Amino acid sequence: MTRYRTIFGPIPSRRFGTSLGIDLSPGEKQCNYDCLYCELAAAKAVETIENPPTVDEIMSELEAALKEHPDIDVITITANGEPTLYPFLDELIDRINSVKNGYKTLILTNASTIHLSRIQKALAKLDTVKLSLDCATPECFKKLDRPVKSVDLEKIIEGIRQFRKIYKGELVLEILMVKGINTTDNEIEAFNRILPTLGADRIDIGTVDRPPAYPIEPLSYRELHAIVEKFDPSLPIRIAGRYRAKEAKSSFSEDEILSTLHKRPLTMEDIGTLFDEDTIRRFEKLLKTGKIKTKKVGNLTFYGTGFSKHNEKKM
Ligand code: SF4
Repeated sequence: MTRYRTIFGPIPSRRFGTSLGIDLSPGEKQCNYDCLYCELAAAKAVETIENPPTVDEIMSELEAALKEHPDIDVITITANGEPTLYPFLDELIDRINSVKNGYKTLILTNASTIHLSRIQKALAKLDTVKLSLDCATPECFKKLDRPVKSVDLEKIIEGIRQFRKIYKGELVLEILMVKGINTTDNEIEAFNRILPTLGADRIDIGTVDRPPAYPIEPLSYRELHAIVEKFDPSLPIRIAGRYRAKEAKSSFSEDEILSTLHKRPLTMEDIGTLFDEDTIRRFEKLLKTGKIKTKKVGNLTFYGTGFSKHNEKKM
């Protein structure tokens, strides 16, 4: 779809379905963060998007692309940078909603502006809002996401809490783990204090899976899984699939399977990434005998060894 400047895709996404993307900064990367793991080239963080495309340009391209690809599931607002810096976001969302018909709408944002009431009001009109929250302490945030000075983590966290009160759609948080930076026990403890207060419908935890802007180390799937086990088990956490996991499938005995699922229920996608074929056969046997149970949370099915009332409510 090279003839569009602001529309890209369709792109299949395991998490959101087939997506048609809108790029609100098509010329160059314009972001108020300079994350160590960014898949775009490193660039100085900025406060605003310069030379933004007009709403009319985006809408005429979107409408043409929707005619060309009527089978998509979701229209995704994103940017070569941070989409909430786009100055006409509210008007754009209204215009998208007027043509969206049965399509879902989604924004992928770094959450830096979520405390602003004009941003909350605009994003509240979308079906799904995915906010990045890589750190729970300011020290980690400065080191990993490297925001412009005006961005404040406390405000972001409070902004998410406030947004949850007015937002009726699906709120997804994403944490990208980078070895030694946000994987420390101190950081996870801080996450465990904050995340239960944010009311997310889902928390995706992943690691670097594309070449990053700076030399940082991704985690293997198993390392990621071990970290996820330290999070509060009542949280609706999903391990985001790894495409380049250094060490993917492993062999687990029946006892190991049960103890793994006891610590943290997993989705079938997690299981397919973590367990090798023999382990999946053992898993299926345990499922048949009732030692493993299932629980549906939103559109995800989790497999565990038992779901407490506490988990049932919050998962
Ligand atoms: S917020 Fe996104 S676009 Fe901005 S620097 Fe971080 S990863 Fe890159």
